[in-house]
Amino acid sequence: MLGSPNRLIHESFDLEPLREANRLTFGRAEIPRYQLDQAELLLSFGAGFLETWISPVQYARLFSRSQSFRQGHKGRFIFVGPRRSLTATNADEWVTAHPTGGMLLALAMTRVVIAEGRAGARAAAIRPIVEPFTPERVAEATGVSAETITRLAQEFGDASSSLALPPGTELAGRNATAAHVAVNLLNYAAGNVGRTLRFGPNVLRRRAAGPGQLAEAVQRMRAGEVEIALLHGCNPVQTLPAALEFGDALSNVNLVVSFASFMDETAAVADLILPDHTPLESWGDHEPEAGVRTLMQPTIEPLFDTRATGDVLISLAARVGDAVAGRFQQPDYRSYLQDAWRRVHRDTAARESFEEFWRAALSRGGVWRETAAEPVTLNRAVAGVDFDEPTLDGGERSAYPLLVYPSPTLYDGRSANRPWLQELPDPVTKIVWNSWIEIHPQTANQLGVRTDDVLEVTTPHGRLEVAAYVHDGIRPDVVAVPIGQGHTEFGRWASGRGVNPLALLPAASDDASGGSAWLTTRATLAATGRRARLVRTQGSDDDLGREIAEVVSVALAREEEEHAAEAHEHDPEALVEAAEDADPKSPYRWGMTIDLSSCTGCSACVTACYAENNIPVVGEQRCAEGREMSWLRIESYPEHVISEEAHGGAHTGGSHGDETGAPHVVHLPMLCQHCGNAPCEPVCPVYATYHNPEGLNVQVYNRCVGTRYCSNNCPYKVRRFEYFDYEFPYPLNLQLNPDVTVRQKGVMEKCTFCVQRIMSARNDANAQGRDVGDGEVVPACAQTCPAEAIVFGNLRDPNSRVSQLARSGRAYHVLGELNTRPAITYLKDVARTGEEA
Ligand code: SF4
Repeated sequence: MLGSPNRLIHESFDLEPLREANRLTFGRAEIPRYQLDQAELLLSFGAGFLETWISPVQYARLFSRSQSFRQGHKGRFIFVGPRRSLTATNADEWVTAHPTGGMLLALAMTRVVIAEGRAGARAAAIRPIVEPFTPERVAEATGVSAETITRLAQEFGDASSSLALPPGTELAGRNATAAHVAVNLLNYAAGNVGRTLRFGPNVLRRRAAGPGQLAEAVQRMRAGEVEIALLHGCNPVQTLPAALEFGDALSNVNLVVSFASFMDETAAVADLILPDHTPLESWGDHEPEAGVRTLMQPTIEPLFDTRATGDVLISLAARVGDAVAGRFQQPDYRSYLQDAWRRVHRDTAARESFEEFWRAALSRGGVWRETAAEPVTLNRAVAGVDFDEPTLDGGERSAYPLLVYPSPTLYDGRSANRPWLQELPDPVTKIVWNSWIEIHPQTANQLGVRTDDVLEVTTPHGRLEVAAYVHDGIRPDVVAVPIGQGHTEFGRWASGRGVNPLALLPAASDDASGGSAWLTTRATLAATGRRARLVRTQGSDDDLGREIAEVVSVALAREEEEHAAEAHEHDPEALVEAAEDADPKSPYRWGMTIDLSSCTGCSACVTACYAENNIPVVGEQRCAEGREMSWLRIESYPEHVISEEAHGGAHTGGSHGDETGAPHVVHLPMLCQHCGNAPCEPVCPVYATYHNPEGLNVQVYNRCVGTRYCSNNCPYKVRRFEYFDYEFPYPLNLQLNPDVTVRQKGVMEKCTFCVQRIMSARNDANAQGRDVGDGEVVPACAQTCPAEAIVFGNLRDPNSRVSQLARSGRAYHVLGELNTRPAITYLKDVARTGEEA
C-alpha cells in the first residue's frame, strides 16, 4: 500500500507446488476448480480436502453430492496415504502407502491407464514420461503391491468420471511439484481435465513467500537492512519453523509494528502493537475464486480501543509525503473500499446506480457469476520434470518419517485461543486441549510405549517431548504430530498447551516452486519414563455389537430402499411411528433425520450448537472427569460393512489386500433423541423433564432440583449436568444468544432441537394464521452442516422432507430395541467396495 518493494505474504500452508505443477503440466500457474461432485471415482493422494486443504467447507458440500447415497447410487472414494486423517475416514478404501510413495504410485497408475488403452489419443504425449514406472518397479518404494496398483489404475480408468487429488500439506516434500505433476498426468490420461478438473473458475490465492524468500528476509533483518517491519494478519514467530529464527532476526529491526488483534508470539516481540479490528468489526472484501467477490461490513461497533489497519496506513500515507499521499484520495478505509467497488460496478456493467449496486452487494454479501471452464493443453515442459524420490533428513534405520499436519480444528494455531475449538474433540483422535504423537500399536509394542507415555522426539533440527497416542490409523513405519498448539503467548486458553512440532523441522522448500516442504525429516523416539494425560471424549471406539453405527454395501442399501419405496407407494400418506408421540391435537411432531452416508464427522455442528445454545466451555480437567457440556457429540466407530450376502449372517470387511484391510469408519452425531417413550421422563421426581404437546422432550430449568436420575436413565448419555457456575468472562459474555437461558449450577440440560427457533417460526406462523411450513425451522446443527446430513421438520406432515427420509429403507433408530421411540432417525452409512457398480 505504501509502495515498499519488500512486501511478503506469509501463508503457513501455501499452494505454490500445485501452482507450479499446473504451469509445468498445462502452462497455467493457477489453482483450478476440483469438481468433486461430478467424480464417480474420487482418489486422493493425501489431500485433506475435508479438513484444511484449499476450501474444506465447499469441498464437503461437493463431496457429499457424489459420495453420499442418493437415488440408489453412491460414488467411490479411495484415499492413498500413510495416515487415516478425517478425510481418509470417509473413504471406501484406504490404501496405506508410504508417505513419499504418492508420486510413484500416480506415475505407475498413469502407465497402466495408458497400457490398457484408456487414455486414447492423449497417451502418445505422456507415454515416454511414465514408461519407466511399472507397478512392479514402484511397489516396494510405495508400500503398495503391484496388483493393487494395477487394480486401482483399472478402476480409475474404467470409471465413467474420475478425479485424482494431489498430496496434501503434510505429504508435500522437497519434490512436491513433481508429485503434483504426477497426479496431473493421471488426470490427463483419464480425460479428467476440462471435466472434473477445470481451469477458468480458478481458486484465487495470492502467491505466498516460500521458505527461501523468508530466509532472505531473515538475513536482511540480521544484517540490519530492515528499518521497519509491519506485520499484519500473521504470527511468523509461531508459524514458521523454529530453525528459521524469525523472532531473533526481528530484534535487529529498528521498529517492529504488529497489527495483531490478540496478543501472540510475534506481537510479544514487537515495539509497537496497533491492534486491528476483528473481522466482526471490519470492512473488507475478498475474491476466493474467479467470478466471486465477497463484501464484508462491520456487524458491531469496535469493542476495544482498536483501529482498522487500512485506516492506519491511509493516515500514515498522508503524512509520509506527496508521492505516496497522492495515491490515496480517500479519508478512510471504508471510502477506499467503496471506490475500489466502483470498478466492480463498471466491470459488471450493472444498470443500477453505484449506490443501488453497493447497497445490494452489501445486503447479499457480494456479487458472483458463473465462470466458464477454459480448455488447456499439455505443456511440452512437462517432459523435463524430474521424478526423483525425495530423501528425508535423519536417515538412521530406527527413525520414522515425521508427518506434521495442520490441525482440523486449530489450523496453524491461529484459532488456538478460541475455547470452543480447544474443547472440540479432534475428529480422529477425540483428544481435547492438547498435542500428541500418533504411533501404530505395532511400533508402540516394539518401543514398549503406551498411550500417555511422554516421548522425546528428536530430529536433526530439534527435539521436544510429547505424549504418545497409540492407534491403528497410521502406518507402523510413520509417526505424526498435529500443528496448532505450543503457544507461549496466546491468552489464557492457548498458552502453555501442547507442543509446536515446527521445532522439529527445517525451513525447507520444494525445489521447483519454492513453496514449503513439510515432509522432510525422520524422527527418533525415546521414552522419558514419564506419563501425561491425554483427555479423550470418546470412551470406546467399539460399539460392542450394539449396532449403534451401521454401514451397508451399496447393493444392500439399494435393496432396502426399493422395499421401502414399494411400501410407500402402497400407502403414500403413512406416517412414521414416532409421529404418534405428540398431543393428538397438535399439528406438529418435531423430528430429525441424520444421513450417516453424508456425515463426514467434521464436527462443525458441535461448535454451532455451543454457539447457538450458550453451552459453557469447561476446560481440560473437567473434560477428563467426563463433565464436558456438549449437547451434541460425534461418535466415530470403525465398522465392518454389511453386504447383501452377509445380511443376516457373517459380516464382510470389504478389504482388497494387505494394504487396505481397515474397516469403514462411521461418524455418528449423537444428541438427545427426543424419545416418544423417554426413559428420562418417568424418573424425574419434579417433572422437570417432560413430553410437550409437540413431541419435544423438554427440560424446565427452574424446576430441576439436580437429582440426575434422568441422566442415569438415559441410554444415549446425552444429558449434561451443571456441576458449577461456568463463567463467560468479558467479552465472551457478548456472544451469548439472548434467546437462550444461561443455565446455573445444579441444573440438567441437553439438546432442545433449538426450541427457540421452533418458537420463533411458530409465532410467525400463528401471526399469519397458518401452520409452520416445511424447512422453516432449521436447528443450528443442520444450518451449519456443510454435507447437508441433518434434516429437521414435522413428522406429522407426510410430505415433509424429514418424513420422507424417515421412511427410507436405510432408516434405523439407535438402541431402538429399548422401545424408546426416538424422534431422530439415522440413515445407515453406505460403503462401496471395488466390486460394486
Ligand atoms: S452432521 Fe455434523 S459432523 Fe456430520 S458432516 Fe454435518 S456438521 Fe459435520
